[in-house]
Amino acid sequence: MQGGPLIGWAQNRLGRRGCLFTFHRAAPSGVWADLPNRGFHLDLGFLDRLLGYLRRTGWAVVTLDEVLRRVEGDLGGRFVNFSVDDCYRDTVEEVVPLFRRHGVPVTLFVTTGIPDGTLPLWGAGLEEVLRIRDRVLLPDGPLPLPDAEARRAAYARIAALWDGPDAGRHYRDFCRLNGIDEEAMHWRHAISWDMLERLRDDPLVEIGGHTVSHPRIAALDPQAASAEIAGCRTRLEERLGRPIRHFAFPYGRAGDCGPRDFALTRQAGFSSAATTRKGLVRQAQDVWRLPRNTLNGNHRSLIAAEAHLSGASGAAARVLRRV
Ligand SMILES: [Zn+2]
Repeated sequence: MQGGPLIGWAQNRLGRRGCLFTFHRAAPSGVWADLPNRGFHLDLGFLDRLLGYLRRTGWAVVTLDEVLRRVEGDLGGRFVNFSVDDCYRDTVEEVVPLFRRHGVPVTLFVTTGIPDGTLPLWGAGLEEVLRIRDRVLLPDGPLPLPDAEARRAAYARIAALWDGPDAGRHYRDFCRLNGIDEEAMHWRHAISWDMLERLRDDPLVEIGGHTVSHPRIAALDPQAASAEIAGCRTRLEERLGRPIRHFAFPYGRAGDCGPRDFALTRQAGFSSAATTRKGLVRQAQDVWRLPRNTLNGNHRSLIAAEAHLSGASGAAARVLRRV
């Protein structure tokens, strides 16, 4: 396309931008296909293709430390950061090895109740029971699970019933009814402190905080909100012996965290806070409300991310459309 100096200038300006992506779990394509809650898991094959595409097209994959340096100085071209929220065992077994193979960094936002074993991983536990059993017992009777479709429908139905402050109790009852060892199930899915300690010196792994118990921060009183935000930082620093500079809000949409919470994050000693509000990072970005674009199991091919990222101001959606 031909363009005058003004268009050249505009293209140059538009080229200087950052896109932050976030996701939760990831599974190899063959495993992904049969997962009862596959929307929560990113297809690793897709992530692999996306990382390859970004490299070929000149996007730098960077840490959040580097994002902050660029925001405070010169954005210096196009850059991407990937962060994994919550952190399960697959973060260590699948995600970090993939980023290592590509030689690019990944940020882990850890909810400390997971390695501490105090946060019930009811979604992960429910999903696994539904995946391995031919039927499960519910309070109103047995539920047959003849195929993957039935397992997905069962997950959606049960998760909708449990979701809320009583989810942990529902899950405990379900485990009892179905003879599941809840503790053993937790460690089949949780990231552990041993695993995190093995990652703490890895130059391609950046570790940040994501609260203690994964609450909706805006719904808490200031004291409780502060305990969640500062508490995860203290715990991570005490276990890992490294400064923890970045924080991500659970859920992270407009109603989940607001100006009071951004201020609490700064007071807790963090250097940045990330949301899940869609958009791109540009010069003079407010680092206490970094936008992030969520990737999930619906993003497996090239087109699928488009609808989800339609709120992003272009680049993220354009990238994903072409992968
Ligand atoms: Zn989270």
